[in-house]
Amino acid sequence: MERTILVRIGEIFLKGNNRRYFENILKQNISENLQGIDCSIVYERNRIIIENFMPSNERRITDKLSKVFGIHSISPAMKTKTDIELIKKLCAEISPKNGIFRVTVNRADKSIIKRSMDIAAEIGAYMLSQSKELRVNLFEYDFEVYVDIRENGQTYIFTEKLSGAGGLPVGCSGKGMLLLSGGIDSPVAGYCMAKRGVKLCAVHYHSFPYTGELAKQKVIDLAKKLSAYCGNIQLYIAPFTDIQYAIREKCPAAYMITFMRRFMMRIAEKLALKTGCSALITGESLGQVASQTMESINVTNSVVKLPVFRPLIGYDKNEIIDIAKKIDTFDLSILPYEDCCTVFLPKNPIIKPDLIKVEEMEKALDSMEDLINKSIENVEIINTIDN
Ligand code: ATP
Ligand code: MG
Repeated sequence: MERTILVRIGEIFLKGNNRRYFENILKQNISENLQGIDCSIVYERNRIIIENFMPSNERRITDKLSKVFGIHSISPAMKTKTDIELIKKLCAEISPKNGIFRVTVNRADKSIIKRSMDIAAEIGAYMLSQSKELRVNLFEYDFEVYVDIRENGQTYIFTEKLSGAGGLPVGCSGKGMLLLSGGIDSPVAGYCMAKRGVKLCAVHYHSFPYTGELAKQKVIDLAKKLSAYCGNIQLYIAPFTDIQYAIREKCPAAYMITFMRRFMMRIAEKLALKTGCSALITGESLGQVASQTMESINVTNSVVKLPVFRPLIGYDKNEIIDIAKKIDTFDLSILPYEDCCTVFLPKNPIIKPDLIKVEEMEKALDSMEDLINKSIENVEIINTIDN
């Protein structure tokens, strides 16, 4: 008899012939996620079993697994040899001693003659004999005792089915470059895309000395929080001050943010192409600020060819905040350090910029290519998980 953890696979069921591909990525992600914890990982059809861990690590393992995309549910379970007398005792032992319950038996081992329902009834009767405070109801119950009798003479017993993170295994949908500010939205945008299987790289624009070490560290810490869900993130810290000086000198103040955004997109796309990313990701939400109107988005979008994913485009701020709290980025995001955009923020940013006009004005920035290349040359690369 030993403690194990059953892991059920999620949506990848749907993927037909590609299933093997998705499963292999999920397995890899699980072993990376559990690195450093002593345990063995056994792969079965449709599920994964974690064994041979110290009981004191059980919670840590389930916590970690609950952040791995592609997992449907998780059950800490007791594994025992298939012996009905023993199983009855264990069921009584691991269950609450009062309340309404049902027993569900799955019998993969057909050499056992008794039907699942009869075994369930037998276990239920035994449990009732052990506590006067228990009652059975198959339809309305406080807890369910699951007994999974496998072909190999082993049985798993559990009462909990913890929700997994859902989504698709990170990496199975390709790689994306997240524009990661220190704000609330972009970490959530990264989380949303990782959930759909996108491996993340990230770029952060840093305006030293206007934005300091603390602001930079905050972004590194945010990326680390995301890493709990999506594994290592290669984070590029790109210097942005010279670009901001050039824009301030050559372009009308109201367009400051518009031009900054266009530069951000251009640099992000170049970095994306260098690192094998096939899309850019931003935390924009329609109408949230002047730079996120349809017109502004059109003007910033038009400088890049890669698709730009904006998973939060239809979300309200409070919906985004709920997710930020759930993934534990919120408290970091609201730390009051300057962002490169707030430092150079104009009083009245243009709300509906015109693309033709913007392109015309941008011609004044004759050193644009140099500025972009210089920023990329001076990028600092940080890995959120050390190997
Ligand atoms: P966030 O909360 O993500 O900062 P926001 O509501 O503050 O978003 P903006 O500041 O207009 O909105 O930024 C829009 C998007 O542009 C961000 O979600 C992010 O993807 C990108 N962005 C903004 N500033 C930076 C930066 N300094 N570095 C990298 N990306 C940035
Ligand atoms: Mg911001």
